[in-house]
Amino acid sequence: MLQDIEVGLVVLDHEYRIQVWNSFMENHSGMGPLKVKGQVLFSLFEEIHEKWFRNKTEPVFLLKNKTFTTWEQRPYLFRFRNYRPITGTEPFMYQNITVSPLVSANGEVNHICLIIYDVTDMAINKSGLEKANHQLEELSRTDRLTKLFNRGYWEDCLQREFFRFVRTHQASCLVMFDIDHFKKVNDTYGHPAGDAVISTVATKLTENLRTSDVGGRYGGEEFSVILVNTDSPSALYFTERLRRSIEKTIVTHEGRDISVTISLGISQIEPEIKDYKDWLERADQALYQSKQNGRNQSTIYKASKK
Ligand code: GH3
Ligand code: MG
Ligand code: MG
Repeated sequence: MLQDIEVGLVVLDHEYRIQVWNSFMENHSGMGPLKVKGQVLFSLFEEIHEKWFRNKTEPVFLLKNKTFTTWEQRPYLFRFRNYRPITGTEPFMYQNITVSPLVSANGEVNHICLIIYDVTDMAINKSGLEKANHQLEELSRTDRLTKLFNRGYWEDCLQREFFRFVRTHQASCLVMFDIDHFKKVNDTYGHPAGDAVISTVATKLTENLRTSDVGGRYGGEEFSVILVNTDSPSALYFTERLRRSIEKTIVTHEGRDISVTISLGISQIEPEIKDYKDWLERADQALYQSKQNGRNQSTIYKASKK
């Protein structure tokens, strides 16, 4: 019966010499029981990490307790090829292993028994699911049109950055910007053309960001950026470069050339700012100033004199 079960069965003595080797093991290793009997496990299977395996199994001899390893800890003990038709994309067989003591008549454990389960299907389903979950998570924080972070996720980042400032007091700037006279773009060229403009502005933003900066689509044609480790003069340098790059960009939609400008507001984080909403409010006020002063410009937030 032991020969035909669909699991691997191996009995080892205390010197780790193989005593029992069933047909599952023979089929997958290509070595029959006659060949392996009496051989030390580690000399036949170099993929087995000897020190780790001894640490794992010594307590089974000494304490007579069972032990387990799962594919999540180590994908396999024996590197067997995977021939399954459905999960054939994986090069090897994932394995769960149980190690049991074989107690002899005098109460000693001179042998241990390994049972090797082929869990390739389960492992692949699980990692497929994890991949899908990861993609879903990414999708749920990304704005579809611009591929920037959406407002919800971006605000989470802003809150984290705010708390980081509370801990570290490192300079950080928040930039809000809005496309000028965008209603006119929609009215003149149509909504799809407006979408193309929004998408191009987002691309220009992405091109100008450092990897540590966090850009988001805050609303329809409003964008937001966290500039990490940046004071307001450096932020102004960034916003002016972005502003000029958008000013000279031409979006061609259905044969018609469209150009737009943006207005920007900058707010550097200060100790008196009480929460991230307060911080946002200041950037918004600075943006409003840019609009008031004629658009296509950047403004750094200044507290109004009372
Ligand atoms: P201002 O210079 O003061 O910003 O003028 P504006 O015309 O840009 O005014 P406002 O920012 O209030 O207008 C936003 C317009 O953007 C209104 C809305 O119809 C349009 N809009 C919002 N989201 C989208 C979108 O996803 N696609 C398109 N095509 N238009 C959008
Ligand atoms: Mg707007
Ligand atoms: Mg606008």
